[in-house]
Amino acid sequence: MIVKSLSFSQKFAEKHLIYLGFKGNLLKIDGKRIRMKVIKFGGSSLATAQQVEKVVRIIEADTERRFVVVSAPGKRTPEDTKVTDLLIAVYQARLAEQPIDNIVEKIYQRYVEIAAPYQVEPIILADILNELTNLNHLAIEDNPYFLDTILATGENCNAQLIASVLRAQGMAARYINPQELGIIVTPEPQNAQMITKYYQTIHQWAHSEEILVIPGFFGYTEDGNICTFSRGGSDVTGAIVARGVKASLYENFTDVNGIYAAHPGYVHEPETITEITYREMRELAYAGFSVFHEEALMPSFKANIPVVIKNTNNPSHPGTLITTKRTNLEKPVVGIASDEGFSMIYLSKYLMNREVGFTLRILEIFRDFNLNYEHIPSGIDDLSIILRSNQLTAELQEELLRKIAYEIDPDELRITHDLSLVVVVGEGMKHRVGSMAESTAALARKNINIEMINQGSSEVSIMFGIHKEREVDAIRNLYYTFFD
Ligand code: ASP
Repeated sequence: MIVKSLSFSQKFAEKHLIYLGFKGNLLKIDGKRIRMKVIKFGGSSLATAQQVEKVVRIIEADTERRFVVVSAPGKRTPEDTKVTDLLIAVYQARLAEQPIDNIVEKIYQRYVEIAAPYQVEPIILADILNELTNLNHLAIEDNPYFLDTILATGENCNAQLIASVLRAQGMAARYINPQELGIIVTPEPQNAQMITKYYQTIHQWAHSEEILVIPGFFGYTEDGNICTFSRGGSDVTGAIVARGVKASLYENFTDVNGIYAAHPGYVHEPETITEITYREMRELAYAGFSVFHEEALMPSFKANIPVVIKNTNNPSHPGTLITTKRTNLEKPVVGIASDEGFSMIYLSKYLMNREVGFTLRILEIFRDFNLNYEHIPSGIDDLSIILRSNQLTAELQEELLRKIAYEIDPDELRITHDLSLVVVVGEGMKHRVGSMAESTAALARKNINIEMINQGSSEVSIMFGIHKEREVDAIRNLYYTFFD
């Protein structure tokens, strides 16, 4: 294999990474030592043969791209159905004991369409058809991994196909199964977690001579069952592989230029964030920024591997770099996010601060009702508990309030629904006076009533609880306060 000379932007990126102290493993190709990158492509990047062509060019353009993680083919048009969603239809048909042949044919044709312009080995398409047809015979009874096994087929078939496409384009590439690679996970259907000790197994692949094409979204339990991560989990696979092989960079290719500073549906052409820390990203992801899977941050963070979010349709755009330390803290705020569907239980009791174990008693009630809470902002004599509304039914709410009233005997107790949480995020706020004042002033200008304020102790974010009808106005005004 020939190591191409680096383009200006690659050299710049290298320098930047060295400056940030990221080294990663080195691989020798033709006597030269190169760093290794993990590159992940989302479903929209692999939806058609035309998109796959872009993917091939991207992989080809940089010899450091050694580990390729793929999603299942996504939507070709906004009305189209993703392969994973077609597989959910297979699952439902199987449960209803209905034939799946039509859906299987539809899925198979997605791969045939992608393969058409390439000299893909005929055995690959035959294997894909076989794997899909076999879903007819998968055991339902006593099989907690029934859905997971069906879902994983989308990624598994695609990885085999993409490896074959790369070979057809003259690259030394091969499909690798997650079990062989070492992605061994906890036995929690649709919510698998990587078992830390197996990172060592993955590391044994660090110096593979071939480009390894890995299906995203699933791993294997220690007992050998297929178990998927939560939806959108191919990002998680990419992060696990990056940590396992100690990559110098994890490139996550999607269909936007990077992470926007605010939702583009709310703000006209928001800025793309150039650099963001893991902590900032975590806060934004929590409040609805869905470009990168929440759980994918941890493996990269633990191994100190920077992540870059890039656009398959515009690969020369620098994208958004997620890193441990931002070099530029000039701007106090990096992004503004929001999420709806919250309720708030407010209670006050005179001299609450003197009652030992007061908060604990309330939280025990929450535990007894199996309720998760999100935040507890508090004052001297009062506190609010914010929780996701979808956990509450009318009866449960009534019982919960009755129990709190009985056991805690508060002076005031009420519940508010239809809340949205709006979060202003930025490490730069720590070193700057007035971010809170500017934020509340922005909301006051639009006459937006603040039901709750919570400033995390890390001072990376300020959170406002407001009525959901004012969410868009709030985002816009906060955005124009800190950006533009
Ligand atoms: N195909 C899976 C999903 O749609 C996983 C992924 O695309 O990351 O959720």
